[in-house]
Amino acid sequence: MGSHLSDRFFNEGYHVIGMDNLLTGSLSNIAHLMSEKYFEFYHHDVSKFVHVTGELDYILHFASPASPIDYLKMPIQTLKVGSLGTHNLLGLARQKNARILVASTSEVYGDPEVNPQNEDYWGNVNPIGPRGVYDEAKRFQEAMTMAYHNVHNLETRIVRIFNTYGPRMRLNDGRALPAFMSQALTNEDITVFGDGSQTRSFCFVDDMVEGIFRLLQSDYYLPVNIGNPEEISILEFANEILKLIPESKSKITFKDLPADDPKLRRPDITRAKEVLGWTPKVDRTEGLRMTLDYFKNQIKN
Ligand code: UDP
Repeated sequence: MGSHLSDRFFNEGYHVIGMDNLLTGSLSNIAHLMSEKYFEFYHHDVSKFVHVTGELDYILHFASPASPIDYLKMPIQTLKVGSLGTHNLLGLARQKNARILVASTSEVYGDPEVNPQNEDYWGNVNPIGPRGVYDEAKRFQEAMTMAYHNVHNLETRIVRIFNTYGPRMRLNDGRALPAFMSQALTNEDITVFGDGSQTRSFCFVDDMVEGIFRLLQSDYYLPVNIGNPEEISILEFANEILKLIPESKSKITFKDLPADDPKLRRPDITRAKEVLGWTPKVDRTEGLRMTLDYFKNQIKN
């Protein structure tokens, strides 16, 4: 997401500063920007005090492990970046008189008891479960962001991001789409967790960036879901990916469902439509093809 957002803002004519501790990110995703005069990169962990010289108009806080296997491996870093990192960047926004947009997540809804999820649903999160480190960090982030808005009149925006995919994901990221594609491309078994009846709704990265761009420019400070409401079961999704790679010899194999894995997930995007005039444009077939081309190249090189 960081590299795609950098591209978008850079192409709109902004001077962009990227900041990342590269815990899960990769410099290769911004290699094409590195020699640009109006792009700078700071290798820094936002959980520590953040110093930036000069003026800032906007801050976009997207720092965090976001793949379940990453935040299970790095629970403390995940909690710190959502809490201390958010506090540091809210402080920076205040000092610079900048507008700040924070990346929240559909995980604030936990294992939801309503489907689809709209922004007024409070969620069903297990605070001490393995996913709690991500979910609660993001819930704290939202609370802290609203507090800065209310107490300091800071210009804040909160996007609740649903499952997003596209080029520049890591092949070994662990999330369903990169896992299934890399398994299918290397003829390994496709690992479906549980019976695969759990659902997700996948949004192509370009649509996500457009929604975020519009939210940042809007004057709306309450959380907004951005995601593609087309819902699919994980088993169907695995089969859809297999169909895209007819030469694959992979078979589907079933593994244990991870603890607290949400059974249903689908965004209600009424608010994004009304407030931002936004709807996703790229359908799954088209988005999956573009992503597959990227992964095929990655495997070749
Ligand atoms: N999943 C799966 N096999 C994998 C990786 C994920 O069946 O190799 C399932 C996972 O249990 C979840 C869904 O796919 O139900 C989406 O998982 P992902 O890690 O992509 O993200 P999540 O939406 O859970 O944050």
